[in-house]
Amino acid sequence: MQSIFGELARKEIRNLPLYVPGKPIDEVKRELGLSEIIKLASNENPWGPSPQAIVAMRDAVGEIHRYPDAGAFTLKSALGESYGLSSDHLLLGNGSEEIVQMIAKAFFRPEEEILMGKPSFPRYETVSRLMGAIPIEIPLEEGYYPLQGLLSRITEKTRAIFLCNPNNPTGTVLSEIDLRAFVAQVPPHILLIFDEAYIEFSELNFSGLAFLEERRPIIVLRTFSKAFGLAGIRLGYAIARPELTDAMNRVREPFNSNAVALAGALAAWQDKNYLQETIQKNAEERRYMSGRLLQLGARIYPTETNFIFAFFENSSISLSQKLLERGIIVRPGAVFGFPAALRITFGTHEENEKFIHALEEIMEMDSMSN
Ligand SMILES: *Cc1c(COP(=O)(O)O)cnc(C)c1O
Repeated sequence: MQSIFGELARKEIRNLPLYVPGKPIDEVKRELGLSEIIKLASNENPWGPSPQAIVAMRDAVGEIHRYPDAGAFTLKSALGESYGLSSDHLLLGNGSEEIVQMIAKAFFRPEEEILMGKPSFPRYETVSRLMGAIPIEIPLEEGYYPLQGLLSRITEKTRAIFLCNPNNPTGTVLSEIDLRAFVAQVPPHILLIFDEAYIEFSELNFSGLAFLEERRPIIVLRTFSKAFGLAGIRLGYAIARPELTDAMNRVREPFNSNAVALAGALAAWQDKNYLQETIQKNAEERRYMSGRLLQLGARIYPTETNFIFAFFENSSISLSQKLLERGIIVRPGAVFGFPAALRITFGTHEENEKFIHALEEIMEMDSMSN
């Protein structure tokens, strides 16, 4: 029977995919009767934030009856100072995901084409459709963001291009030479959005910021969710010329960055030593995991992030299910259209060793039963 609400939602909304998050740790514990769970599924930072951020957030709770500073003066000034830019180049979001949505609301019109790689961050597609724009998904080129494919799909209807660099879920990063050649070929009215959620982990770390002064619209997205270990506070930021942040500010909810998040992010930003330690620890785990996965016969994409995309002989669904039975959560590649791959976030060294041992065990048992 047709519900009286059936036609109420806009048709663009009715077709939007619902985000399916990874299972919460507690739910997996209950279902499997396990006491310890290792979550390597959501690219979270296993070492957590700077201890100074935790102190700052505790202090901020004492003032929680007040609205936050809607202009985020202190944090934007600190970020601006580090980048050598005035504060009006910065815009904060409730996670950089919210900024992806602000970009769509401010700049995408119905029927315009928005280009993006596939697989990449799923929100690019969702926000395009939200505005009635048309997402055009270009397959990655050997795990790399498809610069040639993107260029070949530019038409008069193209409004924007999302560049996820390093790319999630493959972990690959684009070189300065390739990016410069790419940008030079993009017509200068097209909006280029560099999503650099993982760039702190990247040794190449060539940023879209290099193009900020060109006469073309550029937005660079960064986040406190990954290298800074603050995924739970939801704070991301955009860097762009003031004409662009001005447009986005008009669609921003006034108090979109909460007071605890602002305090935690500022303290984390200022603790540069802690960030460096995290980056170093992650690089060690990256070497360990890449090496061990290769030894186990997996094919991997070279990663510059805190996760790795690895291909196996077995189905990734059964592999991830068997890992789950051993209390380890990873992301099956089937979600991204790669049925034989897993995306594995790096944990602490102890967690990574447990993962590798579990994987070894599973692969041995599988080879005996074949
Ligand atoms: C994790 C991630 C983000 C960050 O999202 P937040 O909303 O800031 O937590 C953005 N882009 C990509 C590609 C990511 O993987």
